Amino acid sequence: MKAIRRFTVRTVLPESIAPLGKLAGNLRWSWHLPTTRLFHDLDPTAWEASGQDPVAFLGSVTREQLSQLADNERLVARIQELGDDLDRYLSEPRWYQSLGADAPRSIAYFSPEYGISAVLPQYSGGLGILAGDHLKAASDLGVPLIGVGLLYQAGYFKQSLSRDAWQQETYPVLDPDGLPLTLLREEDGTPAKVVLPLPAGRQLIAHIWRADVGRVPLLLLDSNVAGNDEAARNVTDRLYGGGGDQRLQQELLLGMGGVKALRIFERLTGTPAPEVFHTNEGHAGFLGIERIRELMDPSNASPMSWEEALTAGRSCTVFTTHTPVPAGIDRFEKSQIEHFFDAGLAPSVPTAKVLTLGAENYVDGDPNKFNMAVMGLRLAQRANGVAKLHGVVSRGMFSGLWPGFDTSEVPISSVTNGVHVPTWVDPLIADFAREHFGAESVLDPQWSRVYDVEDSDVWALRRRLRSNLIDDVRQRLRSSWKKRGAADAELAWTNNVLDPDVLTIGFARRVPTYKRLTLMLRDPARLKALLLHPDNPIQLVIAGKSHPADEQGKRMIQDLVRFTDDPEVRHRIVFLPNYDIAMARTLFPGCDVWLNNPLRPLEACGTSGMKSAINGGLNLSVLDGWWDEMYDGDNGWAIPTANNDASPEERDDIEASALYDLLEEQVAPRFYSTVRSEGAGAAGPSELSHDGVPHQWVAMIKHTMANLGPAVSAERMLQDYVSHLYQPAWRAGCLAAESNYTAAKHTAAWRSRINDGWSAVQVEHVDSVGVAEDPQIGDSLTVNAYVSLGALSPDDVAVEVAYGRALDNDELSEVALADLAVSENLGAGRYLFSGGVTIDHSGSFGYTVRVLPKHVSLASKSELGLVANA
Ligand SMILES: *Cc1c(COP(=O)(O)O)cnc(C)c1O
Repeated sequence: MKAIRRFTVRTVLPESIAPLGKLAGNLRWSWHLPTTRLFHDLDPTAWEASGQDPVAFLGSVTREQLSQLADNERLVARIQELGDDLDRYLSEPRWYQSLGADAPRSIAYFSPEYGISAVLPQYSGGLGILAGDHLKAASDLGVPLIGVGLLYQAGYFKQSLSRDAWQQETYPVLDPDGLPLTLLREEDGTPAKVVLPLPAGRQLIAHIWRADVGRVPLLLLDSNVAGNDEAARNVTDRLYGGGGDQRLQQELLLGMGGVKALRIFERLTGTPAPEVFHTNEGHAGFLGIERIRELMDPSNASPMSWEEALTAGRSCTVFTTHTPVPAGIDRFEKSQIEHFFDAGLAPSVPTAKVLTLGAENYVDGDPNKFNMAVMGLRLAQRANGVAKLHGVVSRGMFSGLWPGFDTSEVPISSVTNGVHVPTWVDPLIADFAREHFGAESVLDPQWSRVYDVEDSDVWALRRRLRSNLIDDVRQRLRSSWKKRGAADAELAWTNNVLDPDVLTIGFARRVPTYKRLTLMLRDPARLKALLLHPDNPIQLVIAGKSHPADEQGKRMIQDLVRFTDDPEVRHRIVFLPNYDIAMARTLFPGCDVWLNNPLRPLEACGTSGMKSAINGGLNLSVLDGWWDEMYDGDNGWAIPTANNDASPEERDDIEASALYDLLEEQVAPRFYSTVRSEGAGAAGPSELSHDGVPHQWVAMIKHTMANLGPAVSAERMLQDYVSHLYQPAWRAGCLAAESNYTAAKHTAAWRSRINDGWSAVQVEHVDSVGVAEDPQIGDSLTVNAYVSLGALSPDDVAVEVAYGRALDNDELSEVALADLAVSENLGAGRYLFSGGVTIDHSGSFGYTVRVLPKHVSLASKSELGLVANA
């Protein structure tokens, strides 16, 4: 029978155990071990049956059980204590509060996906996990963030395998009532609503669900509501589902609807309005247009012009790009954007102006496309990549937007990603840290104290983590084989898959081509020899989902799984279907080595290796993303990369062979060697240790935990965001908003004047005096630049001399800059600018002169993309 109507009955908790409700409702439990241990201890069987989901768990407990719990004094005391602890956590001052009034009161964080916990599957990969970690670390540090996203009816797909190893996808539908969410309601009890007008008189309505991630509220918009037609209901049906119009409507809802949702949230909860807006990847970029719409609204006391609203909006917006892969960037047809905006999405905003934001009007751009990343950069005064190398790559990738500037001057900085330590350290490591590092909690581990721990204790811990993983692998493998159609009788071998004393290497991530899942199969015979090595064998645990539309990715999975199916090696190499947060939390800690072999430099940052490191795993990776800046020679291994001029085939050959060599000659021998060398051991040059502990390996583990622990933490990342991006954006936003946006209006007027007048700006002539026949270090040189400014004034510009070592092609390197000052008004808009330069190095020396716009509101010299080079 099918129900004609359904509703969810909430459990009513007896007074004495009422705090269980808030402990289950706030997602802090997902990284708070004492809380999850409490739920476990209430009823271990029911806890496992609920999938370790507190909301489902409480829903499954009977009334009798509840009243029994309520009578158990010790449990009641524990519940009350944890309830009080949560209240304290939510209200006490934390790091951010030490900044006082010198920081934004509220920051909006937009992302299309959030990976917070396995019970809220609203993520597909790294971007989502990162967003989840960002919110959690913000909560721990007291950063007043509000997350904004979409609620997908069927998050990302679940992966299984067919008999012939082809990826199968299913999309289990989620019931929001069974998730740790509450519906945002108006005072009269009706659901709060966001409404966007659509073409042909249709509309898109969304409800707003609230999740509490510790102190951070997360607002998720859901279009599956009454009042929407079928198509509108399906806008949020799947994460990154569909293409074209559906994708565009998801992004309109996320960006424009997201700002509307924030306004409703402010009104209903009294939360301060966000003073900084942080948009992640291009997907949420329309938020900037909604804010422009607000500022241009004709019903305001003094509505702004487009330029003024754009100036004010950008000042406090931060854009983070997360991909160095051009194909990873969303682009729409210009006509699509026109179609939707003409329907009245932003009535006071001219559609033609919207189109300019995403226009690819640079060399190699496509005039018919609307580029979301380009819009993100134009709508945000500050932008960053997610690792140092990714910053370099992004500056190159988007340099077309700043013609005339050296790539190094493109205004995109970087903040290296991090991982939320309390989420990603194994409970065994957390206990270990409490015991040995004297840390009160995993929030603040004194990582360097790992050096005081006995090698044998570290080694015993690693073995336990490896064994836990192996138990999990055997179970998953068996259930995967059953889904593939095998009978129990055929599966006895799975009980002996993997060995708790063999070097265990992990590889798990999404399966886009550039991550090269199958690089390890380049020479199957060599891989086989490594797996079956008589003295130093390795074993591999592999997982990853391919995008459903990516045939090539699915083929790679199939090739790999077929290899793992071979009875000769299947005890040493496994592929586990349905990589997700739950699997990851056992996988990272259980692997001794974390392998990563992307095509450099296509991995923006990568965070799985960081999660491995905080659990005492060693990284074996191409020098890409975070590893490029954090590999130090003693915390793992770098897989050398081939030259960029090698063909893709040659690259794979060279890099695979380097990988095999490293494994065979360095990684495996070190893992199995119990020889103590100087320094690592107590006594003389080198001797065999009799405790069977690989001391050199353990030394690398300790070095990794002590040094990478603090460096890869999401707390470090959040603090970087606050000081490098949120505070400066907030200051700029405050400045722009001063006296009812007078400053923004002045800036906008100045920008228009500069844009209009720039074509007349020109360096007409440059000469220098003071250089002798054979100049020496320390000599100084006076540079005179005759500059024509047209209608602009000398106060509008900076005239700079750039000098340094001149290369053979006249390119300057090691460039230093000095300002020239106006020394004579030559009439008719012409000026002489002069200044001195000291020659500071020997060898070839060169200089040039350029004119740039100058204004207090500019965050960088290159911001406007205007420069007149000599
Ligand atoms: C950490 C993590 C990722 C991202 O890993 P990368 O190294 O950035 O590819 C993806 N999925 C899950 C489940 C993760 O835990």
